[in-house]
Amino acid sequence: MLKRSSPHVHTQFCDGQSTAEEMVRSAIAHGFVSLGFSSHALQDFDLDYALDGEGERQYIDEVSRLQKRHAGDLRIWRGMERDSLSIARREPFEYVIASVHYVACPDGSVFPVDGDAGMVRDRVQAFYGGEGLRLAQDYYRLLGEYISAYQPDIIGHFDLVMKNNRDGRLFDASSPAYVKAATDAMDAAITGCSLMEVNTGAIARSGAREPYPSHPLLSYWRSIGGEVILSSDCHLARDITAGYETGEAAIRKAGYQKAAFLGRRDELFEWCRL
Ligand SMILES: [Zn+2]
Ligand SMILES: [Zn+2]
Repeated sequence: MLKRSSPHVHTQFCDGQSTAEEMVRSAIAHGFVSLGFSSHALQDFDLDYALDGEGERQYIDEVSRLQKRHAGDLRIWRGMERDSLSIARREPFEYVIASVHYVACPDGSVFPVDGDAGMVRDRVQAFYGGEGLRLAQDYYRLLGEYISAYQPDIIGHFDLVMKNNRDGRLFDASSPAYVKAATDAMDAAITGCSLMEVNTGAIARSGAREPYPSHPLLSYWRSIGGEVILSSDCHLARDITAGYETGEAAIRKAGYQKAAFLGRRDELFEWCRL
């Protein structure tokens, strides 16, 4: 079994429901050896969801306080989940998960691919002629370019565009065109970062049956030399390990021999054999 840990946790500093202190208490109660906070990083739009300048300062202060206060309980890491449109500096943070949530429309607006299903469907109708595949292609192009250029520590929820594709309502995820868009993005991404999270957040929050990324992509990632780390993308303290059995099973099924977890001391990552 993997060591208990998560590099991907949200709190009331961004769109999470629990305080940072509640998250730490839940992590301790669940036997965590380490915990990484990853607030949605500073951006200049959609501020209900991400940190603003003052929020970033408060977040850094609070995580730093918890690091000292709980030094004898578990290693706490001060991270961020940084969208491709974020304006956050990297220096104040000990690690970065890089994710793409938004795609740009021809009229200059942006929308989150993991937003409300009806909104996403309307945007696909208005900007992609009703072809969800074109949305997926845009999303993956952006993701591959971002990871390759930014070189984060961890790649976030690789196939997030699947969130609103239940029953194939936006595109056929087994079609060669979709698979090519996703695997081309993996080929680009691995030039910037070799560690991808296996993210169980949607299992707890929207009833998904498998983590991000889906099995074929998780297998492809291994085939090109990629590594994985299990994460809960938790927004509510009691869900801190939600979906972990399914996530660990997915990692094994895809053939991985080991997985990373956030380090217990100074090294950012340690490894667990499977
Ligand atoms: Zn995210
Ligand atoms: Zn997240």
